[in-house]
Amino acid sequence: ELSRKNKIYEINREAALFYYKNLLKKNSPGLAYLKQRGLEESVIRRFGLGYAENHWETLNTYLIRKGYDQEFICSAGLVLEKKTKDGFYDRFRNRVIFPIINTTGNVVGFGGRALDDSLPKYLNSPETSVFHKGNNLFGLNLAKKEIGKDRKIIVVEGYMDVISLYQHGIRNVVASLGTALTKPQGEMLKRYSDEIIIAYDADAAGQKATLRGLDILNELGCKVKVIRLTEAKDPDEFVRRKGKDAFLEEVERALPFLDYKIILAKMENDVRTTEGRIQFVKAVAALLKQIKSPVEVDAYIKKIALESQISEEAIKREIFGNHMYDP
Ligand code: ATP
Ligand code: MN
Ligand code: MN
Ligand code: MN
Repeated sequence: ELSRKNKIYEINREAALFYYKNLLKKNSPGLAYLKQRGLEESVIRRFGLGYAENHWETLNTYLIRKGYDQEFICSAGLVLEKKTKDGFYDRFRNRVIFPIINTTGNVVGFGGRALDDSLPKYLNSPETSVFHKGNNLFGLNLAKKEIGKDRKIIVVEGYMDVISLYQHGIRNVVASLGTALTKPQGEMLKRYSDEIIIAYDADAAGQKATLRGLDILNELGCKVKVIRLTEAKDPDEFVRRKGKDAFLEEVERALPFLDYKIILAKMENDVRTTEGRIQFVKAVAALLKQIKSPVEVDAYIKKIALESQISEEAIKREIFGNHMYDP
């Protein structure tokens, strides 16, 4: 079983090298694509990016010539058997390749991006014996060395967000690979950091994933904050347009868990109406019920009283029940 896994790691490494060499070939469409997206060669090299050419079985032929078993090549998820059972074909074709490397330095899988608008935009390795999407964070192999004394880590959605921030000197960044953050990913983050900052895309999907991620991290007992991007659709676009310092300002201004939840509660309820104010306060009271620190609760009660024009006394009773504050 272990030797089987090691074999797959070995095949993945060969494939990553193959894709990398393709990328650096003369007139490579992959390199042109990445350059057009603003990436420097040093960063391309650091992440070991590659290019899968627009052919059906160049990788398979290469790996077979290197002496690897067809069965292993297939179980690494790199090659598939034709339906007609009379041959094999490469999974990734005409795509830029992002190797996914775990914290021990093994290539566990790949992401591949189309060079144009063809779908799917991203294609990932399937689940294999060494790759389980929800158990990996893209970029953690590099980010773990950059966490620093403040032990902060930024979580983004995509490969390009991690790489683009890295190029701009922001290197404590990982991607949850599109899926909403999973519990195993949360546990990995907790191991490497004391504060996690979610910086997902500004669209509805990103906002929904932010909420899910927040709850998962909060339940794991992590300190979590949220960046709400408004001037760009994702961190890659933001940092390219506005630069490193502007992004770091967003990190500084990131909303703590509760503040973010309160903003959402406020957006969901029209606090200009009585009914809206009641629902808003009830929603926030339910959140504050779960907070252990009395000082923290008190601070938020003051804030909410101000925003809802409902008395602090009533909000306290809503949170703790009547008995606790009876004179
Ligand atoms: P780009 O900037 O290249 O358009 P992106 O990262 O902004 O890419 P999104 O659509 O925001 O693209 O997706 C975020 C991440 O979600 C991707 O980096 C990828 O990891 C994952 N993803 C997106 N689309 C798919 C897909 N069709 N299948 C699997 N994963 C996907
Ligand atoms: Mn998106
Ligand atoms: Mn993007
Ligand atoms: Mn995006």
